[in-house]
Amino acid sequence: MNILNFIGGKFCEGEKGEWLDNVCPATGQVYSKVVASGVEDVRRACEAADLAFDSWKKTEAKQRASLLRELGHLVQRDLKSLALAESKDQGKTLEQAEKGDLPRVVKNFEFFSDYALKLSKERFRGEGGGDNHISHHPLGVVAAIVPWNLPLYLLTWKLAPALAMGNCVVAKPSELTPMTAFLFCKLVQEAGFPPGVVNVIHGEGARMGDALTTHPKIKAVSFTGSTQTGTHIHKVAAESGHPLKKISLEMGGKNPNIIFADCDLERTLEATLRSSFANQGEVCTCGPRVFVEKDLYEDFKRELLVRIPGFPQGALVSEAHLQKVMDYVALAQREGGRILCGGKRKEGPGFYLGPTVIEGLDRDSPVNREEIFGPVITLTPFETEEKAILLANSVDYGLSATIHTRDLERARRVAQALEVGMVWINDWMKRDLRTPFGGVKRSGLGREGGQWALHFYTEAKNICYPETL
Ligand code: NAD
Repeated sequence: MNILNFIGGKFCEGEKGEWLDNVCPATGQVYSKVVASGVEDVRRACEAADLAFDSWKKTEAKQRASLLRELGHLVQRDLKSLALAESKDQGKTLEQAEKGDLPRVVKNFEFFSDYALKLSKERFRGEGGGDNHISHHPLGVVAAIVPWNLPLYLLTWKLAPALAMGNCVVAKPSELTPMTAFLFCKLVQEAGFPPGVVNVIHGEGARMGDALTTHPKIKAVSFTGSTQTGTHIHKVAAESGHPLKKISLEMGGKNPNIIFADCDLERTLEATLRSSFANQGEVCTCGPRVFVEKDLYEDFKRELLVRIPGFPQGALVSEAHLQKVMDYVALAQREGGRILCGGKRKEGPGFYLGPTVIEGLDRDSPVNREEIFGPVITLTPFETEEKAILLANSVDYGLSATIHTRDLERARRVAQALEVGMVWINDWMKRDLRTPFGGVKRSGLGREGGQWALHFYTEAKNICYPETL
């Protein structure tokens, strides 16, 4: 199968006729080709989106909301086949795709479809007179750039709010996982979106990414991916010399899980298994640094290791990524870390590495400081609450954290002290789409979700009327 670009409502090859191989992580085999877009394709997509914007921005919120809802229905109708495609393309288990990613795609459309109808019209009467009316206006064409770990889930997390608020979009999926974005464009057509409102271009970010993020028609860039790429985008977009662009960056993490001895052990083990190994540890909010209070450390370790063999694992996304993860395991061994389970590539085809648990590493080891983004966690004991906070905050990242304790006052105290954007108490990844999603330090800039997305994808205008004409 050839995976094509979707520009101005039509599927098309790239201008230069170039293609990339698309590999199935479970087999290691090439199973389709994807367009390798160049600068010319980016230009065409931006122009198509710009052309569509004038009438799209004038559509009633009600009409946009009903198109989004219809798109959600179509994804729900095709959920099983899309889940199968996502699993094959990304390596994740079918269960993760079917019960995790795809239902969330549907929710993204339902949620922002409702939100489009609730765009707030705030009004403030000034003390010294003046009646202030605030309205929100779409920006124009926005770029949505997404990574390979949750391909359609993250694409639609950007697409749905951007469209709800009246913008046109040029989206760029990861070159490693292009399949479901391609299949999804067929649903965009079927739902009846006007041509040019949604455009999807494929190819290598390193080759055509700058052309997208610096294009004069692009008014905002919403990026999710690595800290390295996000930092680069921030720089080139600012230096592009065109009108200033809004930038939202959701980037890497090295999240801490803090487990106190008074926790509900069963519940903590269940949440820790998920926060460590869900989607092969390829979720930005996974918590690869597990800190356990000394009195519980040995019991926790034993019980965790007992439960790991039953935890479902898919393949890692690519040979190169598997190699990178294995390099960290080898480094851990060289630094004196003890591999308690996993750590070996599964024999046979595909990019498989079992859940890997390491103990005995220093907090300054690169294994404990750098993002690995695979099924590898480290266990570290701690003695006091202050030490746990110090350890948790000792990295450059600050996306999310979990805290496990029965002492709610302590949970509140520790949560306030952590340098992160999101904290889960006695749980992991419970999501309410109205809440802000994002991180601090080198994990990100800005927030997605609810009113934060509304503000990102619109410009606010204040009109001040006099009390009397
Ligand atoms: P990546 O940065 O390599 O690529 C992300 C996207 O950016 C891809 O579509 C890629 O083609 C594109 N890209 C690459 N160079 C570009 C350029 N110069 N200009 C524009 N686009 C460019 O990231 P990845 O390896 O695909 O994804 C894994 C990373 O994503 C991890 O660091 C993970 O933590 C992060 N992530 C963060 C969140 C979050 O919400 N904070 C969520 C999921 C994943």
